[in-house]
Formats: sequence, C-alpha cells, structure tokens
Amino acid sequence: MKKLKRYRIEPGEKVDLSRHPPGDTAGAKDGREAAEEKALELNERLEVLQERLWAEQKHAVLVVLQGMDTSGKDGVIRKVFEGVNPLGVRVAAFKAPTEEELAHDFLWRVHSRVPGRGEIVIFNRSHYEDVLVPRVRQLVPEKVWKARYGQINDFEKLLAETGTTILKFFLHISKDEQKERLQERLDDPEKRWKFRKGDLDDRALWDDYTKAYEALLSRTSTRHAPWWVIPADKKWYRDLVIGSVLVEALEKLDIRRPEPREDLTGVVVE
Ligand code: ADP
Repeated sequence: MKKLKRYRIEPGEKVDLSRHPPGDTAGAKDGREAAEEKALELNERLEVLQERLWAEQKHAVLVVLQGMDTSGKDGVIRKVFEGVNPLGVRVAAFKAPTEEELAHDFLWRVHSRVPGRGEIVIFNRSHYEDVLVPRVRQLVPEKVWKARYGQINDFEKLLAETGTTILKFFLHISKDEQKERLQERLDDPEKRWKFRKGDLDDRALWDDYTKAYEALLSRTSTRHAPWWVIPADKKWYRDLVIGSVLVEALEKLDIRRPEPREDLTGVVVE
C-alpha cells in the first residue's frame, strides 16, 4: 500500500486524534472489493513469512492492539491472522489485574508473555491499559501513571535491543460507530454475551479516554516501537492497513529459510 507512513506516529509528534479521521479510506483508491482482494494476498504472504520466522528462530514479533470497546481488536486477530500456523502465534489478553498482579510492578504480568524467538505474540490490550484506566478512573496518583510512560519506553527498548520487533496499533473508531456496534451487540443474540453494562460507563468517559490515548500516543511512539493510528470505522480498510504494515515489517527482517542441518546431496527417499 502506498503512503502507509501517513498512519505512523513519528517520535515526539504531538497527537491530536481529531485530525485523524476514523472513516478514512484514502489508501484504497480502487474501492472496497479491490482492498479485500489485496488483504487476502497480504494474508497469504503473512502465512509464508510467519512460517519462515518460526523456522529461523531468530526474531520475535510483538503486535500490540489497543482501542476503545468495539474498536475491532478481536476482529483483527480473526481476520488479519487467519490461517497462520498456531504453533508460532499466540494471543495474550489482558484483563483488569488480579490481586497478585497488583502486588507486583505493572510490567510483571506483561514481560512473562512477550514472544520468544520465532514467535509472533498479539497483545489484546496490553501494558497501555496501565496509562488509561488508572488515569481516567483515578485509581493511582498522577505521579504513578505519569512515570509509566518512561518505564514503558525503557521496557520496549530492552525488548527491541534483544531481538523483538514491536508494532503497536491504535484502532481508531468514531463515537458514532461505537454506538452502532454496541447497539448491534445488544440486538444480536449471537453477540449479546459480549455486552457489559460497564461498557456504557466507559463510553460516558469517551473524551477522557481520548485524552489519555492522545497522551500515550504522543509519549510512547519511538523509533524502536512506533505507534500506528489505524482508521477503523471501516473494518475492511482497517484490515488492509494492518496487514500491509505487518507484511512490510516482516519483509524488512529479511528472514532466511534455514539450511538443512546436514548435507543432503544424493539423499534418495525410497
Ligand atoms: P475485552 O473488552 O478486551 O474483550 P473484557 O470485556 O473482559 O475484555 O475487558 C477487559 C477489561 O479489563 C477492560 O475494561 C480493560 O479496560 C480492563 N483492564 C485491562 N487491563 C487493565 C489494567 N491494567 N488496569 C485496569 N483495567 C484493565
């Protein structure tokens, strides 16, 4: 996809989400059908690249998915990663911390779930919740959550320097789109189980969460772990952009198929 970089936040850039339209489809000039075809192609390339990554056992890849409720984190996992080999791909979901987790530093539960060499791990929510919920709901003093931006940058630097490629996606939906998706959840018997009344409390705090997101996007987009703000009102476009970023990043790693462990010339299978 051309001009993918428009969605990447540069280090030090001050993010104003009102300048990032959630309904943008500018990279899909040929329309939805062509975009869906392209996304399928990307998915096939991702499968091949992931197999090689797993075979080579050299690089680790961490994909972070963040976004408001209904922004499509589950959908991205289902669609963009469709068909990848489950041997080398894991999903780690982060819920409200348990008592044991709260007794440790906030990165304790996160560090143990990062990818090892050869693996892709997708974080469905992540350590970024720790600069969102506690800030908006005032669960810890300001001094505590403010210090976390730097602590997160140091943590991600450590991961990057020890062989992990980090890709962070903020799935950016509009408040109107969330309304439709929540209503659909409520009305559809297959989706109703997902609806929590608490989602409405978070929705009422939309502006506070937006501010908290703007702050974290501005403070934690680094060269080694950039943020991508993905227009996510249109699911097909969201999948196209994320697929493109992923494939481009994996291709840059120049993953080599490993050589056989011994000389196989002249070997015949009878
Ligand atoms: P999801 O919405 O991801 O499908 P849930 O409905 O169980 O799954 O939501 C998980 C909840 O846990 C969210 O409300 C999220 O904000 C909360 N959560 C995750 N991490 C933290 C954290 N570190 N501190 C407080 N709340 C958190």
